[in-house]
Amino acid sequence: KQTDAEKWVKSVCRYCGTGCGVLIGVKDGKVIAVKGDPDNEGNKGLLCAKGYYLPQVITHSERVTKPLIRKNGKLEPGTWDEAMKLITSKFKESIEKNGPDSVAFYGSGQQLAEEGYVANKLFKGAIGTNNIDGNPRLCMASAVGGFTTTFGADEPMGCLEDFEHADVFFIIGSNIAEAHPVLFARLTDKKKKDPETKIIIADPRRHRSHEIADISLQFIPGTDMALLHAMAYVIVAEGMADEEFIAKHTSFSDGKEAINFENYKEFLKEFTPEKAEKVTGLTADQIREVARLFGEKGKNTMSMWTMGINQRVAGVWANNLIHNLHLITGKICKPGSTPFSLTGQPSACGSVRETGALSHLLPGHRVIANEKHRKEIAELWGVPADRISPQVGLHTMELFKACGDGRVKCLYVMCTNPAHSLPNVNAYREGFEKVFMVVAEVFHPTATTKYADVVLPAAFWCEKEGVYGNTDRRTQHLAKAINPPGEAKPDLDILLDLARRLGYGDLFPFKTPEDVWNEYLKCTTGTHMELATYPALRDAHGIQWPLKGHQGSKGAVRRYVAPEDPYVKEGIDFYSAKDHRAVIFARPYLGPAEVVDKEYPYYLTTGRILEHWHTLTMTGKCPTLMRAVPKQYVELNPQDATELGIKEGDMVRLVSRRGKVELPTKVGKPGEPRPGLLFALWFEPDPLVNAVTIDAVDAASKEPEFKICAVKIEKV
Ligand code: SF4
Repeated sequence: KQTDAEKWVKSVCRYCGTGCGVLIGVKDGKVIAVKGDPDNEGNKGLLCAKGYYLPQVITHSERVTKPLIRKNGKLEPGTWDEAMKLITSKFKESIEKNGPDSVAFYGSGQQLAEEGYVANKLFKGAIGTNNIDGNPRLCMASAVGGFTTTFGADEPMGCLEDFEHADVFFIIGSNIAEAHPVLFARLTDKKKKDPETKIIIADPRRHRSHEIADISLQFIPGTDMALLHAMAYVIVAEGMADEEFIAKHTSFSDGKEAINFENYKEFLKEFTPEKAEKVTGLTADQIREVARLFGEKGKNTMSMWTMGINQRVAGVWANNLIHNLHLITGKICKPGSTPFSLTGQPSACGSVRETGALSHLLPGHRVIANEKHRKEIAELWGVPADRISPQVGLHTMELFKACGDGRVKCLYVMCTNPAHSLPNVNAYREGFEKVFMVVAEVFHPTATTKYADVVLPAAFWCEKEGVYGNTDRRTQHLAKAINPPGEAKPDLDILLDLARRLGYGDLFPFKTPEDVWNEYLKCTTGTHMELATYPALRDAHGIQWPLKGHQGSKGAVRRYVAPEDPYVKEGIDFYSAKDHRAVIFARPYLGPAEVVDKEYPYYLTTGRILEHWHTLTMTGKCPTLMRAVPKQYVELNPQDATELGIKEGDMVRLVSRRGKVELPTKVGKPGEPRPGLLFALWFEPDPLVNAVTIDAVDAASKEPEFKICAVKIEKV
């Protein structure tokens, strides 16, 4: 009972990128309750079911409490010293024999910022390989690509407070009701208070978010670029463009070279609503109506998107086109007017994008490809300038391929479950089997620990101190509430131990997470991504960067605009973009990697449900959530079900060019999903939906196209 708590510890929810502030109730050294933090701007005290039921997860019997070491093919309990000695010798041997690029690290948008920073420094700065990537490559890499190509710097300019100011919400490729439930509550609240608020939901699948939509657009999967260009066409053709804003703050590009507004108008003629109607399956009238709502002068429009846009081979380009709509209308950097990407994981922003823990990045939004950036970071890290390789490391899909073909011989996996979450996962089995794999995990077994040579028992979220960076540039401190069970340790302590054993102790003198943060802060000084100090973060309920001189109690609520952004003197200034101008892109239309045909006549898309998180390693330990949704299923349109002779509950087999999976069916209401589209949950390790999904990647972001592949469906 909440009233039994001896103390309440301020923290952040372990699950999604909303980053709801939580208070952890502790009694006798145990977590007895979790409640929303009423002082947190993100959630104002509200939580969804996943957050409330976190206590049920902590004490589950599958917690790993001792290191496990593979002996004669079986994982057996061992000592920390034995485990770490083995890991050190394997990594050292591989580096000496095969060079630094023969080892790799695969992290997570759920790790703490300090953990991401130390892993990055260990692999890039000490060992000298850029083979460090993480699961944000599977979810947010295209949003990163969109922000950096349009604005010259990653992460959104808007904030959660914009919900209260927007008149129109344009939500595309996001089931916000289930993937970000507390933000959906904020949306419904706004609509209740101001019924004139218009909500547009654009998604091939009708889902819970559509319940409050004024307009639902169920376009053909993979045709989002045509819809977005056509909306731009209507906005420009009907005089809704903000020409003054365009002239002052933007430039134009066709992706290869600079063009001008006239060229852009000419380009858009290929995307009249009538032409887009044929591609998208929407009517020209629907497209006009939505464009007019988006572009209406004097109204504020907020766009939101997530995996439906990012997990595409056209992910970066589709992100660019959403930004286009805001730039041509000038609906940006104002309360209620902003493009706003919804981050999937709690700290994909803070722990991976900001710390630079991807194979092409360095801390403080720097990039490997930039010599000046490499030199700056090498100096801050105290390593020779040439220690950081100019060669971009292996991105996620390439990394797991390299485990199979022998390029990577030793892999350290932290806080994630790739043997379940990769697309077309069976093609990567050989890699999991061959590579010497260390998995630092809270629970065992998982799909990935089953392949591990060593499993290291990691402390869970409430058993360690650290920092998360959530969806709206909000950095938040998580205090330690209880001790970890048995011999489990914080990931940070494990990484520091490994660094010392590998002989890099001088570079890692840190004793506490705050020591790590203090060094990391130096990497953000003067970068337009300056973060807050540890004491300030401990006191606050989230602080939004950029700060100047690491000062600020609340931070920069909105970016690129005075007076909120300390780097802007007056008005709006896209200071990270070339010539301070955000780029409006005339990107050519690009459809999905795989289209339906006679043999594989259905599109398959996958997604989350409110009750479960990713691969079930946490919510699967929560009896209440398991009772609510015990099994995954494939949902099909009632018209398709009738034609196929399939009834609710029938078992079906989905077959793609890559594999097959058997699932029970759920027959949706009309439009759930649109005819010709199947929707599958993917949280169970068996049956494994990712046996079927496609691993084609976006050329720029290297993010796979989880959201679209072609399948056939057979009754079992
Ligand atoms: Fe946690 Fe996200 Fe739910 Fe908030 S909305 S309680 S962050 S899962």
